[in-house]
Amino acid sequence: MSKTLLLKTYLKQLRLPTILKNYEALAREAAETNQTFEEFLCCLVEQEVIQREDNNLKRRLKYARFPTTKTLETFDFTAIPSLKKNKVLQLSRGGFIEETENIILIGNAGTGKTHLATALAMNACRQGHKVRFYNVAGLVNELILAQSEHQLLRFEKQWLGYDLIVLDELGYIPFSTLGAQLLFQFCSSRYERGSIIITTNLEFAEWTQVFGEEKLTAALLDRLTHKSHILEMNGDSYRFKQSLNRQKEE
Ligand code: ADP
Ligand code: MG
Repeated sequence: MSKTLLLKTYLKQLRLPTILKNYEALAREAAETNQTFEEFLCCLVEQEVIQREDNNLKRRLKYARFPTTKTLETFDFTAIPSLKKNKVLQLSRGGFIEETENIILIGNAGTGKTHLATALAMNACRQGHKVRFYNVAGLVNELILAQSEHQLLRFEKQWLGYDLIVLDELGYIPFSTLGAQLLFQFCSSRYERGSIIITTNLEFAEWTQVFGEEKLTAALLDRLTHKSHILEMNGDSYRFKQSLNRQKEE
């Protein structure tokens, strides 16, 4: 077997597709620029590592199922003065995930809660964390379905595998008794084992309205708020302000 063929076979066997793709061009370049063998090897391996990290990030972002792409860079902090930018930037470094702390974003509609939750969770993906984004109503439906199919244990194993879970839009739709219990179980099982980011339009005193039962709500709040960062995001709706501005320009 020729050396070229042998090398290609080895690279396939070792699953090094980026080296396989690039080595010929890089070898030419190395010869032209008088690189040492070590420099050439380092450059080759580096490309494989970068490509692999990139693929892993893409996979994590895909599995997280974010409804939209949002970043902190595109978030206008001046629009919501009650929110401390430094606090958000500190959270974006991801220390809260290592500490299994939660973040609760509370505020009226259109104040950027989903935007911030998504941006923080996308950063977590970049930091190598396993993340999953859920709309709360969607999650409750999944939980009810899993329970009816006796798949709750399997589902639980899956959700405990995530470092960070986003529960978006708590409060818009009240739950059935079963739904509330299952969501309680979901959040309780993650207690001190994994982080949650919750976005909600409800003050804590109003949570009983969606969970129905007072004792259950109190127990849930106790666990969720124990190690949590609470970000108040009350203000004017950003969407509404933007449409007003557009109208003024017309
Ligand atoms: P909420 O979840 O609080 O209802 P969203 O996060 O869905 O609000 O925000 C509504 C829209 O306005 C989104 O497109 C979001 O990107 C944008 N938005 C909200 N607040 C800001 C902000 N402070 N800076 C930039 N965009 C914002
Ligand atoms: Mg939202």
